[in-house]
Amino acid sequence: MVRVTPSTTPTQPLWTLSQENLQAWMAAEGHPPYRASQVWQWVWEKGVSDFSQMSNLPAALRQALAEAFPVPELQLLHERKSQDGTRKFLWQLPEGGTVETVWIPHQDRATVCVSSQVGCSLNCRFCATGQLGLERQLQGYEILLQVYTLKHRLRLPVTHIVYMGMGEPLLNYSAVIESLEGFSQKMGLSPRRITISTVGIPKGIRRLAERKEPFELAFSLHSAIPEKRQKLIPLAAHISLEEVREALITYGQTRQEWVTLEYVLLAGENDGPEDAEALRAFIAPPLQAKVNLIVYNPVPGLPFRPSPRLKAFQQALLRMGIITTIRYSRGADVAAGCGQLARQTG
Ligand code: SAH
Repeated sequence: MVRVTPSTTPTQPLWTLSQENLQAWMAAEGHPPYRASQVWQWVWEKGVSDFSQMSNLPAALRQALAEAFPVPELQLLHERKSQDGTRKFLWQLPEGGTVETVWIPHQDRATVCVSSQVGCSLNCRFCATGQLGLERQLQGYEILLQVYTLKHRLRLPVTHIVYMGMGEPLLNYSAVIESLEGFSQKMGLSPRRITISTVGIPKGIRRLAERKEPFELAFSLHSAIPEKRQKLIPLAAHISLEEVREALITYGQTRQEWVTLEYVLLAGENDGPEDAEALRAFIAPPLQAKVNLIVYNPVPGLPFRPSPRLKAFQQALLRMGIITTIRYSRGADVAAGCGQLARQTG
């Protein structure tokens, strides 16, 4: 347990405090433990983070809390709304830089697509975010705040979370875990409804395998032919596909779970019979995986196009006995689709 007293951690943001932290602080200040529960309810259940509004606390305590803990917020710089209801938000971050978050309603669900880094270091050839380069790592609470702000400030429902915005979650591992814990323990969202999407970092996948929370893992495969994959994803030249596959097998066996393979279907690049055949070989036991075919969202200036062979490719995989779903694009008219997050505000 981390002991928090006003003198030792004067700038710890409210969002990063655990219940134990708050209790320790209350004890050090001479307040009964239930005061910590009251603050917790205001912040995480009622969505109130302004200490002055916590009406069941004594005025002096409200004042002391405000002096002890900063409450940084995301500042909304820009919003775009898609015809399909998808909304894209551009935020100014408390610790510098800007990122985007996408809110996607579909039937009785509402999925938030969060960013885990400012920009991205991977430079995947088909992705708009890749063109930005990496500016900085997000703090765990900055990832958490993307969902908190939509839920409590904009009053939007949230049922699912996907780490599919800007950045590579497993290259910002500790912040991603901190946010994951925050989503489940602080915001009460079930980890079963949280998906971490990765380009395939074996070390990170093995660390995730040891976690107890029942979140979902998706791996951005895009081609099971190593040379083709390297052309699309520069990082693949440094991490062999076999190494990633081994890590996924360990992950699946440790957690008794299937993983999802994301496969963005690009015209003439990865949509032929030999590509389907390579996928079959990749999925062979002991790997247990299903395939999610992604409709490509074109990015201005990049040469890739969505494949017209989507249905045929799905049928080919289904005939091979591979569970294959299609993810249709959402929010593409306002550049809010997967891989279109490049922070243009026009
Ligand atoms: N770094 C993580 C999260 C990236 S975004 C990862 O690589 O998984 C989530 C998914 O969108 C990834 O599978 C990514 O490859 C895919 N993607 C990137 N650009 C896209 C585009 N323009 N259209 C459709 N999907 C895209």
